[in-house]
Amino acid sequence: MANKNLRTCEKGHEYYKSSDCPTCPVCEQERKPADGFLSLLGAPARRALENKGIKTVKQLSEFTKADILKLHGMGPASMPKLQAALAAEGLSFKNKGK
Ligand SMILES: [Zn+2]
Repeated sequence: MANKNLRTCEKGHEYYKSSDCPTCPVCEQERKPADGFLSLLGAPARRALENKGIKTVKQLSEFTKADILKLHGMGPASMPKLQAALAAEGLSFKNKGK
């Protein structure tokens, strides 16, 4: 551990990092949305999904496109990003019920 120092971030997390990288990995992790696809969205759209309990692409796939569009803060501009995120996982929006 020659190049590593034990550091404590402002929130009290202890971590080893080489001196050229001052970011605390715990804080870094907490800042990140649970699933990367949320980071593609603007804040209002992201909040809309989070309020609905949608944090992963898998959860998103349980909703229809119409359901998602109805969410407050979700705009049509976000839909292509969501669809791309779904497609990347081999998923898609749920089809409308029969
Ligand atoms: Zn921290």
